[in-house]
Amino acid sequence: MSGNQEIKIQSMTRFYILLLLKSRKIITGYQILKALEKDLGTTASPTSVYDFLKDLKSKGYVKNATKSVGERAKGFKLLPEGEKFVDRIFSRFNNLIEVAIQSKLHMCASCGVRLYDDYHSETIQGDEFHFCCKHCAMAYKNSQLEED
Ligand SMILES: [Zn+2]
Repeated sequence: MSGNQEIKIQSMTRFYILLLLKSRKIITGYQILKALEKDLGTTASPTSVYDFLKDLKSKGYVKNATKSVGERAKGFKLLPEGEKFVDRIFSRFNNLIEVAIQSKLHMCASCGVRLYDDYHSETIQGDEFHFCCKHCAMAYKNSQLEED
């Protein structure tokens, strides 16, 4: 890794590894591989995972650690600088996720609340409208009638 260049997090695998490092005190490369397989359904290549961990280590973001005395240092532990790095990445992704969710959301045409999975749709004068409930649909139709 060259000097000041920030490590790029361009894959879900890397993002998830950071999540794992943050959520556990110490984690081994093997546990990371298992978790990726179990939670993401991806079989990450051990080499790419260990290379990434090596990059994080060279940046001073993680260090080798053991869970118990006498164990060989196979685990990894996030260091304070690493915590900051992970927080930076997370806040960036947070914004993206927020945008992605919002673009999929509908709003109740009557009261304006956000609609998730369970909502009421009605076709009014050829256009489809979404509402949080039948009452809002009714209120909306009534208000439309008043305007005519
Ligand atoms: Zn509503």
